Amino acid sequence: MSVTCSKAHVVLLSSPGIGHLSPIVELAKRLALDHNLTATIITFFDRSSDIQQSMFSSLPIGVSTVCLPPISLDDLPTNTHIISRLSIMISRSIPFLRQILLDLQIKNKRIAAYIIDLFGGDTICLARELGAPSYIFFTTNFFYLSFLLNLPTLCHEQHDNNPDSLLALPGCTPLYHNDFPQSAIDKKSDVFAWMIHHSKHHDKVDGIMVNSFEAMEGGAVIFLKERRNGKSPVLPIGPLTCVGGTEKGLAELNSCLQWLDQQPVQSVLFIAFGSGGTLSFEQTKEMALGLEMSGQRFLWVVRMPVDADRSAAYFSDHQGRNNLLGFLPQGFLEKTKEKGKVVASWGPQPKILSHHATGGFLSHCGWNSTLESIVNGVPMIAWPLYAEQAMNAVMLVEGAKVALRPARMKNDDVVRKDDIADVVKDLMEGERGKDVRRRMHDLKVAAQNAVKKEGSSTKTLAQMVNNWKTLAHN
Ligand code: UDP
Repeated sequence: MSVTCSKAHVVLLSSPGIGHLSPIVELAKRLALDHNLTATIITFFDRSSDIQQSMFSSLPIGVSTVCLPPISLDDLPTNTHIISRLSIMISRSIPFLRQILLDLQIKNKRIAAYIIDLFGGDTICLARELGAPSYIFFTTNFFYLSFLLNLPTLCHEQHDNNPDSLLALPGCTPLYHNDFPQSAIDKKSDVFAWMIHHSKHHDKVDGIMVNSFEAMEGGAVIFLKERRNGKSPVLPIGPLTCVGGTEKGLAELNSCLQWLDQQPVQSVLFIAFGSGGTLSFEQTKEMALGLEMSGQRFLWVVRMPVDADRSAAYFSDHQGRNNLLGFLPQGFLEKTKEKGKVVASWGPQPKILSHHATGGFLSHCGWNSTLESIVNGVPMIAWPLYAEQAMNAVMLVEGAKVALRPARMKNDDVVRKDDIADVVKDLMEGERGKDVRRRMHDLKVAAQNAVKKEGSSTKTLAQMVNNWKTLAHN
């Protein structure tokens, strides 16, 4: 006998990677806690499963998880781009996914909405088979969404490889060719073809939810809403940020928080590069020397350096490797022990950013990290590495003006210790730092307003949920 459930049920598919899973988890929590829905989050088999488990430990009653079986990519060349890998993994999972969705449909009578992220478009056909409305949860921002929706047109334009050519998307900060996502630079590459493929799915869904808010990207929101009249609507529902755990263990969490407890208010620069970012050996050394030279307090999530791949940790299991910190300059740990703390591979970022001692964030500008900084009012140093991070950096440094950038940060050049020390001092105690801190405080208030009870993002989400409930009960 099957067990049926009277609450409307939604299914969310997260593509592989903690940066994709984290906002999906937060959305599922909001749907269950604020809207009385039940939800199933479907994930891919992930090597960083202890981090995943820590996220799941904060799930409320009514939200469950199902993990797809491991999908082999052994036949792909080892240098296959992350986006191609993700895309192929998702399309190979369709038979397993179909069975999971069928089971959920039987158990819950009906799926009220099927929600995917940017890379899940190939699975929309499954929602159609079940008669469920489908939505993309665009887990980054309107800037990147505008870029992606324009990609098929851009493909035919002469932006080509002139670094001085400027792209002015309506309502967005102008963008130099050099700051395009890497996937959009080589138009003949597989990854470019995949991005065009994914961009086209946005017209096939019933709505595009975006993890951003009107006060941050008002111009782009207005333009996209008008432009897409008659097509799937764009719906700002953010910022949804991680408030539960992403830490690997209690010991690590306590050690960071106890250290922060002993530091003065807003005195510590936090340094981390998301779930996948890595620096080269040379850059890691310069970073260490620059931090030391700045004389500022810091908490640094240090990763094993990798030359020539800035996303090398993406599919990593993030096991701590304290004993391997030997690649840091000799004497660095000893010389900075009064002012600095180093954690290997992974740190409890949301808790660090919300701690009163944290006063700055040197970040790769992944969108979750950016939002976590904004909701805590922590000004940033932008250090983009891959994907759309350079675009995010442009928006933060030149648009919202809530971040600084090291001087002479160009392409693949190593940023030298003097420039690192200068920008760190500037942020933590300089005049420019005061300006970005003030603006970040204002942005924090605007972010809080968007998600409070009567906030713009809260209302948008509520309207959408009401539509699902009506449909589900008809
Ligand atoms: N994160 C963390 N500890 C780390 C590095 C990252 O908890 O040491 C979390 C971070 O809080 C964020 C997510 O991992 O929620 C990374 O997402 P983001 O979009 O910033 O970057 P991505 O990993 O997708 O590049």
